[in-house]
Amino acid sequence: MKLLLLGGTSEARDLAARLVDANLDVTSSLAGRVAKPRLPVGPVRIGGFGGVDGLRAALAEYDVVVDATHPFARGMSANTEAACTAEGTPLLRLERPGWDPDPAWRYVDTHEEAAALAAELGTRPFLTVGRQELARFVPALAHLPAVARVVDVPDLTLPPAWQLLTSRGPYTLDGELNLMRRHGTDVLITKDSGGTYTWPKMAAAGQMGVAVVVVRRPPTSTVTRTVTSVDEAFDWAVTQMAPRS
Ligand code: NAP
Repeated sequence: MKLLLLGGTSEARDLAARLVDANLDVTSSLAGRVAKPRLPVGPVRIGGFGGVDGLRAALAEYDVVVDATHPFARGMSANTEAACTAEGTPLLRLERPGWDPDPAWRYVDTHEEAAALAAELGTRPFLTVGRQELARFVPALAHLPAVARVVDVPDLTLPPAWQLLTSRGPYTLDGELNLMRRHGTDVLITKDSGGTYTWPKMAAAGQMGVAVVVVRRPPTSTVTRTVTSVDEAFDWAVTQMAPRS
């Protein structure tokens, strides 16, 4: 039995390690978005499959799929659901929960709304929304001295007033407090990524009284079975891959 693990998240790396440790045959798949990805243990393939049709063809080599992609990578999750349904391949979604909402945070549905609200709430924004979304903040925030933190340098030419920081979590509370103090941050913009790696910026904003704008997750599938912990995903995979008598 072979399992395809769609990854790019810390939970996917944890799950891959557990499955490899249990001597199960797992191949992790990464989108290839970042130049130097943190690689999971075990076999890895990198790059898109070529939409639903490409993924359907690839599924010929696998018996079971776990979709542990990023909570905002909904395109991949939708493709996976469509391909697995068409091929009759068992599929589980592993998605970490979003952060427990803080009454002080302001939630919005889109990055454009986040940009507009941030422009109302502050003058020195700290953008932590990922390289692929930065362009959506330019119209509303180009005139402000924003700090944009990304893993890899974006293709986009940034407004002259913006400062780019390249780094990758996990971050520390002290580091985030220093960074926000140094830049005089008065509004933080983030996706509801959840997890611990990027939580310190939320704690730092709370301590400093910095406004926080959170982009809600896109709606989840109502069809695919979803779990929130690596333990649950591991148990599901073990059951699916157990030899049948
Ligand atoms: P997406 O829009 O859902 O995926 C776009 C395409 O990338 C997919 O159709 C697929 O290409 C390929 N792809 C995505 N994940 C893959 C995987 N694990 N293995 C193989 N191919 C994969 O996702 P996205 O463009 O990566 O990101 C969308 C949002 O999620 C952005 O806001 C981004 O910042 C955020 N995000 C994503 C990741 C991640 O690891 N993907 C990590 C952090 C943040 P084909 O159609 O060719 O198969």
